[in-house]
This record gives sequence, C-alpha cells and structure tokens, in this order.
Amino acid sequence: MSLVRQPSLSSQMSDPGQRIKFLVDYGSQVEVDKSLALKLYFRSGREMLRMANMYCDDGQLESAFILYTKFITLFVEKLPKHQDYKQSPPEELADFKRKVKKVFPLAEEIKLKLKKRYIEDEKIYLEEQAKLLEQRKAEEERRRKAIEEQERQDAEMAKRLQEEEEAGVRSEQEERYWKLRRQEEEKIKENERKKHGLGVSGVQEQQPSISEASAPGYAEETPDESHLPAVLNNGEGEFIADLPSPPSYSQYLTDISANPPQIPDRELKKKLTISNSNLLIDKPSVDRSKKPAVDHHMSLGEFGGSTFRKVILPSLLMSDFLKAAESNTAMESETMGILCGTMSRGCFKITHLFIPQQKGGHDSCDIENEEELIYYQEKHNLITLGWIHTHPTQTAFLSSVDLHSHFPWQKMMPEAIAIVCSPKFQESGIFKLTDHGLDVIGSCKLTGFHPHSKDPPLFEICNHVEISDSDTVVVEDRRK
Ligand SMILES: [Zn+2]
Ligand SMILES: [Zn+2]
Repeated sequence: MSLVRQPSLSSQMSDPGQRIKFLVDYGSQVEVDKSLALKLYFRSGREMLRMANMYCDDGQLESAFILYTKFITLFVEKLPKHQDYKQSPPEELADFKRKVKKVFPLAEEIKLKLKKRYIEDEKIYLEEQAKLLEQRKAEEERRRKAIEEQERQDAEMAKRLQEEEEAGVRSEQEERYWKLRRQEEEKIKENERKKHGLGVSGVQEQQPSISEASAPGYAEETPDESHLPAVLNNGEGEFIADLPSPPSYSQYLTDISANPPQIPDRELKKKLTISNSNLLIDKPSVDRSKKPAVDHHMSLGEFGGSTFRKVILPSLLMSDFLKAAESNTAMESETMGILCGTMSRGCFKITHLFIPQQKGGHDSCDIENEEELIYYQEKHNLITLGWIHTHPTQTAFLSSVDLHSHFPWQKMMPEAIAIVCSPKFQESGIFKLTDHGLDVIGSCKLTGFHPHSKDPPLFEICNHVEISDSDTVVVEDRRK
C-alpha cells in the first residue's frame, strides 16, 4: 500500500522560521461564533486532540501542530470570551485547562521537530541547487567552447575562400598581360619583317618566346559551395535558454514528500495520552434538529490538499447495524449509530460502530447521554467519521433534518459520511453534502422538517469511500 501524504502547507517558503510562522498563523485562525453553543466547541476541542494524536501517529506533524495550535487558541484566547463560558461546569473547565497545560509543551516539541526537519529540507535543497548551478555552468562552458571552435573554423574557411578568389583574379590579370605581350611581340616581328624584307628567321628564334602553356591557367578548382560551414544562426543566449530551469522549493518538497514514508514517533506518542479522569459532564439532551453550524475554522482536516482522503468502510457494517436495528425497524422507528475510526497511512478507516442511547421516532432519532460517546472515543482514541441511520418506511436519502444533522460533522471533518439504510426498499446510500449544500445548510436557520430548494442538489453519493470485505467492525450497543 502506498503512502498518501498531504503536501506540505508551508512549502511556498524555504526559510525554516518562516515556515513555522506560517503554521502558527494558520493554526491561530480560529473564529468563534457566539451564537453557537459552547458545548459544540468543547466537542470540537476533544476531537481536535484525538485527531492531532492520530496525525502524530501517522507522521503528519504539520497537521498535528496546526490542530494543537487551534486547540490552544480556542481554549486560551477565544472561548473565555464566550458568554456561556463562566456558566460551564467547573469540572469541565478544569479538565480543559489541564489539557491546555499538556498541549503547550507537546506543541512546542513538535515545533522543534518540524524546525529541525525544515532546516534539513533547506540544507539539502540548497546543496542540490548548488550542484545544479555547477552543472549548468559546466554545460554553458562546454557550449561556449563549441561556439568558439565553430567560429574559428568559419574564419579559417572564409580566409581560404578569399585567398582562392584573389588567386583567381591574379591569374586573369596575368593572362591579360601575356596576351597583350604576345600581341606586342607580333607587332614588333611584323615591323622587322617589313623593315628587312623577308628577314632572317634565326632572329626571332633567339627571342624567348612565351608560349601559352607557361602562363598560369585556370587549373585550380572553383571552391565547392557545399563545403561551406552551416551558418550559425543561434545566438549564445538561445543555447542557454534551452537548459531546464531548476525546481522551485515547493516543487522540491513535493518530490521528496512523495517518497519517504513518515515513521510514527513512538516517543511523542507516549506523551500524547491525555487522560480524562476528571471529566464530568451534565447529561445534555441532544436535539439534532437544532444542531448549530460549526465554523469552517474548526475543521480537523482541511489543511493543504483539496482532495478527500479515502474512508475505508467494512462491508459488514451495514448488515451488523440493520441486525441491531431490527426490533426498531419492525416498529417503524428509526435507529442511529456513530461511525468511529482511526487514521493510518493518510486514510481513514471505520473500525467501531457506536450505537448510543437514543430516542427514535418515525422519521427522526436523537442521541441521549452523548458523554458516553465521548468517553468511549477517548478511551479507544477514535474520531468521528460520520453516522448511520435507518429509514424504516422510506427510501435512502437525506431529509432536511438529516442535512442539518450532518452539516457540523462534515464541517469538522470534510470526509465525514452519512449512511442511510432503507430495509423496506432494500437499499442504502453513503452521502455527503455538496459544496452548494454546505452553503445552503450553513446559512439556513430553520429547524425541524422544512423544505430546501433541491436544484442544484444539496447532497451527493460519496466517491471517497472504499468498501472493504476483509475488515470487520466492533459494534458497541449502549441502548437499554
Ligand atoms: Zn433520515
Ligand atoms: Zn434548513
């Protein structure tokens, strides 16, 4: 199985200090909407810690560091300003204060580890850049020499051509000279013949006669045009532009992050267990139809990549759940369960199905004793990956109440899924909200069953879920 690792969030910069600062700034961007119940932020805070733990275990230190920073920002800076903060159960506040105290040194330790890694990244990057620069220089030098050699050969050829041309002109002039000279000699002979009658033939024999053969002729070849050197039409600049440009720092980080698997940090993991011994919570009654929106700043996973991580869903989960729901289904009342799981090698796996105490109706179902779920998740270090419920009399779809129920889960965890099982129609669907659905539900203040415009669609079938036949699921049924 290949490792899926998120791209580094801070890869746009190479300076280690700047990269750390970027993560701190990113993690500090937590907005608290005071119209939302404090309880919801407490729930998010707990999930943040569990999720951070998983990121550490999975070697994703940047994401872990961001979540710890978010947690600190939330509980030290933001939540104390919430109007309900002072009325919260003191044990719960004390528990969170204890957690914050533990998270501070952990975040600091991860920061140091990240800084060390960034310094190493930068060092290797700079070394590779220097090596690349040297190679480029050597290549440019080689090309410069080749150009020089070509120029030298061209100059030589040009010189030879000129010499040949000059030689040609010279021979023409000589020929013209000898021709004139012969004509001159003929004229002299003619005059002498006229002077002495027929004259003595021996006289002219004594005069050196210039024959045509002794004059330089056209024996030499005309230079062949095909031997001319190819014209150098490339400037030096054009050669250099051919070289590939060196990779950017972020390209470099992407390349290296694709290779080495991140080894879980055992030493760090030991310190991550934050016990819950003092945690006492009022038994809140949860009305799903009134669940408020979670701000996107509370997200546990939207760091870096825009692609969804895979969620592995054991195929037995649906049949196990329907078996547990059988008696309710017979009475046409809904049953619901929480999908819990872990993260490993960059993808999620649903490992536990928690069926809480609940009050199921004909078309809705509400959790009771939510703190049992919190205890259970903290004990087994599980995060919430979605929920499942039955539609005893209807088909598998997300009703308006379902959409509002799912919204906060998906805001917290973009990969969270909603499974709807319809025993009557023998179908089940694995859904999530569309981007448009997130906008619509996020700004809809209505509660109970109410109509929404369905075009464009508010929810869709998930394509990031992989059904596994080889994995099983632990069913924890807390109903009485
Ligand atoms: Zn439903
Ligand atoms: Zn609505």
